Amino acid sequence: MPELPEVETVRRGLEPAMDGARFVKVEVRRGDLRWPLPKDFARRLEGKTVTGLGRRAKYLLADLSSGDVLIMHLGMSGSFHVFHEKGAGRGGAPGNYYHERSQHVAHDHVIFHMSSGAVVTFNDPRRFGSMKIVARKDLEAEPLLKGLGPEPLGNEFDAAMLARACKGKKTSLKAALSDQKVVAGLGNIYVCEALHRALLSPKRMAATIASKTGTPNERAARLAEGIKAVLNEAIKAGGSSLRDHKRTDGELGAFQHHFRVYDREGEKCVTPGCRGTVKRIVQTGRSTFYCPVCQK
Ligand SMILES: [Zn+2]
Repeated sequence: MPELPEVETVRRGLEPAMDGARFVKVEVRRGDLRWPLPKDFARRLEGKTVTGLGRRAKYLLADLSSGDVLIMHLGMSGSFHVFHEKGAGRGGAPGNYYHERSQHVAHDHVIFHMSSGAVVTFNDPRRFGSMKIVARKDLEAEPLLKGLGPEPLGNEFDAAMLARACKGKKTSLKAALSDQKVVAGLGNIYVCEALHRALLSPKRMAATIASKTGTPNERAARLAEGIKAVLNEAIKAGGSSLRDHKRTDGELGAFQHHFRVYDREGEKCVTPGCRGTVKRIVQTGRSTFYCPVCQK
């Protein structure tokens, strides 16, 4: 499943093709994504201009000149491909993915022909992805976005905010950080990676990063720092690959290289001076990778 840094690199990749451009034609080849596309989907987009392309957690939000917002989610296997009408071949697929993406045209479900000359195709073999159009004024009440906690790359996100969210929580730090109400959009990979950077055990009780009244301690500071650092580095790695659209293989390796614990069971811990070995355990049904020596 694409994680937040991947979605952000997709957003950056789509921006030149879509931001400021008008939907000239919208083709819906299969409308039965995670939920059916509305019947008037194409009509509500055609002729409208994208006035901004944003992101909230793992949702891409295209603001339209009509006052609507197009909400897009990649689901498990969704990806966008950008072709240029004057160019040749299957062009850039923005975003750097850990898992390999489908190139099969049978899975091209929605196609945007933009006034920029770009043809933006949404490909999704498993069809867990979704698109929805809502009025901008109703966005705050939108159920998909309503319960989401703070944006980890937002300016306001810091140790104090994290500590308030974890105050009194008896669950593990792993479970707390995986909770979208505590931090929005942080998936399994980056929860593991952030905890390793912060040298905090995924099994530690979440409440222990805050005082009883919810003020942050030094652990909260390390954790907030770790979350931001790991996401920013991943986005940077994804961003750099956008310049080389021809590269399709090797993407997996490029992302994996940046992982310090994720998927590295049995390997030596990379924390300087640590002699530990990365261990895998299962927490709330998901694999957790961590170093039991330096993560306390
Ligand atoms: Zn270690």
